[in-house]
Amino acid sequence: MSPEPPFDAVKLALPHLRALKAYTPGLQPSEPGWVKLNTNECPYPPSPRVADAILREVGTDGASLRLYPNPSSRPLREALAAHHGVGVENVCVGNGSDDILNLLVRLFCSGASPAGFTLPSYSLYPVLVGIQDGRSEVIEFDRSMRLPIDRMIGSSAKVFFLTSPNAPTGVGFKTAEIERVLKEFRGVLVVDEAYAPFAGEDSVPLLARHPNLVVVRTFSKAYALAGMRIGYALAGPDVIGLLDRVRDSYNVNRVSQAGALAALGDTGYYGRVIATIRDTRDEFVRHCAEGRGWFTYPSEANFVFTEPKDGRGRTGAVVAGSAAAFLDARRILVRRFPSHALTESFLRITVGTNEEMLVLNQALEAWAHS
Ligand SMILES: *Cc1c(COP(=O)(O)O)cnc(C)c1O
Repeated sequence: MSPEPPFDAVKLALPHLRALKAYTPGLQPSEPGWVKLNTNECPYPPSPRVADAILREVGTDGASLRLYPNPSSRPLREALAAHHGVGVENVCVGNGSDDILNLLVRLFCSGASPAGFTLPSYSLYPVLVGIQDGRSEVIEFDRSMRLPIDRMIGSSAKVFFLTSPNAPTGVGFKTAEIERVLKEFRGVLVVDEAYAPFAGEDSVPLLARHPNLVVVRTFSKAYALAGMRIGYALAGPDVIGLLDRVRDSYNVNRVSQAGALAALGDTGYYGRVIATIRDTRDEFVRHCAEGRGWFTYPSEANFVFTEPKDGRGRTGAVVAGSAAAFLDARRILVRRFPSHALTESFLRITVGTNEEMLVLNQALEAWAHS
């Protein structure tokens, strides 16, 4: 008699999951002392009102934590609706915008119902499609990074994810260009606006005219609340109704709801933080492009995508790797995207404080002369 085969969870799992590669998040060092410019977090703390609201929510004994949170994040939803000038029925809150993106893939994508996205863009989309065993339709940019409007319109995708401003390039797309897509594209267009608070324009005004638009926002970048996991979708009531049908019934915890609500109320504080980051960004772009003569995309986000040149004027994946390693050895973290020809020779550098950018600029100077 042959022995029973050992338990094999991977064999029992659905076949398409066996080869699935998880999303690779940027490094989060556990020790302090790093200049952390690799995951587009805000270099400044959130509004002081956030910690106050959280302490109030939890209380001295934590008793409120016995109770489930508001299942539809109702007070936050109302505040977001007022903030964007839309109705409560146009808002759905998620456990980070990644939660919302995941739900949108669940709603609209399968093996027979492709999800579209551009390359490069946010690299979570293909992972979410992979989890769903869905089909992808990929539209590649060229080095100009101009929006491929006609190819998007011609796409057979049922749902198309557009990151604007784009990641990891920082290039923002014009509202008028996005509207041209919306007028003719037959599927749902999701505009992932994680970085829109740093940009000159956004897609929210288009919601009133285009029921096939979903705008996705997050508190992780401009609101300095990546650790709280809050994002949201703005869309027509039909899409919001579908999201409400498939999301976890308590998808946003009590503490995060209270913190986000307080953050949203402090427009003065965040206006100053965003203005400072934009100024630092514009100065750093000039420094890279004009000061160093490095090819650098104009950025409408809180990061800069630049192609380093070594002391002999060479560029390429090896040069970018050498710059990143040099910075890493000096405890400065930046991000590389080596898997695609359009991105492999670049560094994506999050805009930090002015002090952090000074440390970075000195290190880049030392690298260029090394
Ligand atoms: C950071 C980022 C997100 C993730 O936001 P969370 O709300 O933290 O999940 C989504 N989309 C893009 C393009 C991002 O850069």
